[in-house]
Amino acid sequence: MREDGFDPRRRVMLFNLDRVRTNVRQATTEDLLDRITVYRGGMEPEALELIAEELRDRGAHDEHIAAHAERRQRETKYGPDGTAVRCSRCHRPAVAEGWGWHRIWGKVPMFPRFYYYCAEHRPDQAG
Ligand SMILES: [Zn+2]
Repeated sequence: MREDGFDPRRRVMLFNLDRVRTNVRQATTEDLLDRITVYRGGMEPEALELIAEELRDRGAHDEHIAAHAERRQRETKYGPDGTAVRCSRCHRPAVAEGWGWHRIWGKVPMFPRFYYYCAEHRPDQAG
């Protein structure tokens, strides 16, 4: 910290926290529940506090969070670090995996690659 009490590092942190707060308000409840359960290993403690606060405001209490964690635990793929593996197409936790074609503009198959899929993007459910 400098002599005048201004700490640039603290300022950056506060700025980021503001961004996190805005982001948390705009996130879906499902997203917040994922962040506070399966992704909590990668989150800042301050961010987790904001998320817990927002979930309380939305009426999701500890038992909702525990139920969500339990459901995800059953269906989600976890990496070696204990954090949930994300879907290859969105930020949701993956529930299935498999080989698929990497496609240019979503059309032209280029090369096969390994994909992770959330419940929404699973090929067997996407029609
Ligand atoms: Zn997805």
